[in-house]
Amino acid sequence: MDSNMEQELRKEARKLLDEGKADHIVGFARGSLKFTATPLITREKEEVASLVINPFIVNNLAKFLTEVPGRVGIVAKGCDSRSVVSLIQDNQVSRDDVVIIGVPCSGLIDIAKVEQLVNKDRDEIDDIALQGEKVAVIIGGQKTELPTKEVLFEHCLGCESPTPQEYDILVGIPTNAIGDKELSLRRIKQLEDMVPEQRWAFWKKQLSRCIRCYACRQVCPACFCERCFVEESQPQWISPVSQWQDNLMFQVIRNIHVAGRCTDCGECERVCPQNIPLRSLSKKMSELVDEMFHYQAGIDKDAPALMTAYEPVEAEDLIM
Ligand code: SF4
Ligand code: SF4
Ligand code: SF4
Repeated sequence: MDSNMEQELRKEARKLLDEGKADHIVGFARGSLKFTATPLITREKEEVASLVINPFIVNNLAKFLTEVPGRVGIVAKGCDSRSVVSLIQDNQVSRDDVVIIGVPCSGLIDIAKVEQLVNKDRDEIDDIALQGEKVAVIIGGQKTELPTKEVLFEHCLGCESPTPQEYDILVGIPTNAIGDKELSLRRIKQLEDMVPEQRWAFWKKQLSRCIRCYACRQVCPACFCERCFVEESQPQWISPVSQWQDNLMFQVIRNIHVAGRCTDCGECERVCPQNIPLRSLSKKMSELVDEMFHYQAGIDKDAPALMTAYEPVEAEDLIM
């Protein structure tokens, strides 16, 4: 992701507004903290000059598509564009109402990992640049190089489509993320290697820390129900009080609801204030969906959504 891409993006976004091909642009602007970006939703032509592309554009902007009116020009990384396609499959968004501005992605940098490796707070770091297999970190004029694999988010290490497959405009050239599937799946493998009692104890401990803030739900583009089951009182599926059994039930049902919709964008885990390893649930669910139904979320906009299609041959496997 370089400044040429940013210029190209700003030019294309401006053109969409000038020509009336989009009513709003949804992209990223520089964040107020160092090494952050923040979602920018605008219809102001001048504001597109603040659009940025960098390794800190973490949000999955597809979340906004169901809320922003009119035709939307949306900046989409590979995983985001899959979420857009998934929303189209679920009839939440019309393909005609969205202009996908695809951004080939080289992976996102987890600033917490950088801070830990260089033993500095982000405010003490002058610059961070993703340069292929290395990430250059400048502190007080001195350059330190870190292996990219050690500072990317775990889900980016397992990314299979860093370049959007569905787009109207592609900014820049197709790219490959610096992947390491084994590293990306390491925590899931550790859980798989546990005996059921250990795994139960692990999740009991993790979910006892959940404060039911619902940030994981709010940030997820695959969670689009107008009324979430957790807010139902008749029947009351789970207690609104945060206790581990109900927290477990919340995550189990949420993961069933996003099965076939989750694109491993990593947002639920990133925003969890309790650092609960939510990707170990969502990614495992995606693997099961692929294994059982040969289905990956957000790949084919013309295919029926997983939960809306049923094959009679599935009955034996699904009915217990
Ligand atoms: S999962 Fe892929 S497309 Fe999404 S942010 Fe990571 S590398 Fe980019
Ligand atoms: S974001 Fe974390 S703490 Fe908040 S409801 Fe989800 S799992 Fe619980
Ligand atoms: S469940 Fe998590 S990883 Fe999957 S789409 Fe939602 S926010 Fe992204």
